[in-house]
Amino acid sequence: QSKRKGKNEFSVFNEELKASHTESLALIADMRQAITLGQLEIYYQPQINIQTNTLVAAEALLRWNHPTLGQVSPVTFIPLAESSGQIINIGEWVINNVVKQIASWRHSLAQDFRVAINISPLQVRRGTLCSFLTRALAESNLTGDCLELEFTESLLIDNPKAVMEELTTIKAAGTSLSIDDFGTGYSSLSYLQNLDIESLKIDRSFVSHMTTNDKNLGIVKAIIQMSKELKLVTVAEGVEDLATLQLLAQLGCDFGQGYFWSKPLPANDFEVYVLDYAKNAKLN
Ligand code: C2E
Ligand code: MG
Ligand code: MG
Ligand code: MG
Repeated sequence: QSKRKGKNEFSVFNEELKASHTESLALIADMRQAITLGQLEIYYQPQINIQTNTLVAAEALLRWNHPTLGQVSPVTFIPLAESSGQIINIGEWVINNVVKQIASWRHSLAQDFRVAINISPLQVRRGTLCSFLTRALAESNLTGDCLELEFTESLLIDNPKAVMEELTTIKAAGTSLSIDDFGTGYSSLSYLQNLDIESLKIDRSFVSHMTTNDKNLGIVKAIIQMSKELKLVTVAEGVEDLATLQLLAQLGCDFGQGYFWSKPLPANDFEVYVLDYAKNAKLN
């Protein structure tokens, strides 16, 4: 009996694996046409200066509007884009579109804010990221300081010399560098000595439980404290309620991002959000 059960469990597990593998292959195939068929879209989520209540930046977050599956999460398709090599084309599409969007907002909005783009390690390791960024910015008459690049600590684990050089060149062009999901990687902190990082984004897994879990609170406190010593800006990810925001403000966290202010929004809706936010700030 137990033997049979074991075998059935194994075959169920196996079927699921096969299904997910087949689904992955289908997604990878569909992805090849996603750009030309206009299925990719960039959403924007505000970043707020917690101490002054001003909107300081937006994070660009990619969405794939799949014809039959609906909106596919980047958590699903970015790893597939990386394993199939398509992340290079997709990443370049993101950069081009964000830069054009910033140029358009410089005309339509009175307010300037930076846009943060998520960068895959593969884009940096290729060694052409800086030249691509420079050209995209020049075509829109913009300078590097309108952008911020977010990457995870995993980028800094292997191949550090070439990566460091590429990042240093990007930084020299005025674009700031930010460590995403800080505290969840396995990297040492030594890169903070050699690389001119602007900000650390405290991972949502710590922030979202900090009002109820003492260990998470301790980690958030320690990251903010260390950042102050190193003159780094802290950005709290995943701020969902007022209690969390107030605690972060009290701890001296600089910026926040999360559903408390807004979910990521399509560009048009984000523009409305920015205008409303400025209007309300004047009233207060
Ligand atoms: P990330 O860069 O850490 O982005 C933050 C994620 O947290 C986003 O998920 C955002 O929608 C979500 N989020 C923000 N505030 C809250 C909140 O208050 N509560 C909760 N529960 N979630 C919140 P999203 O948009 O699904 O993106 C997931 C990940 O996909 C990103 O994590 C990033 O690693 C990757 N990604 C997204 N766009 C791109 C891209 O253009 N290029 C690359 N290479 N990766 C991307
Ligand atoms: Mg990010
Ligand atoms: Mg993050
Ligand atoms: Mg994250």
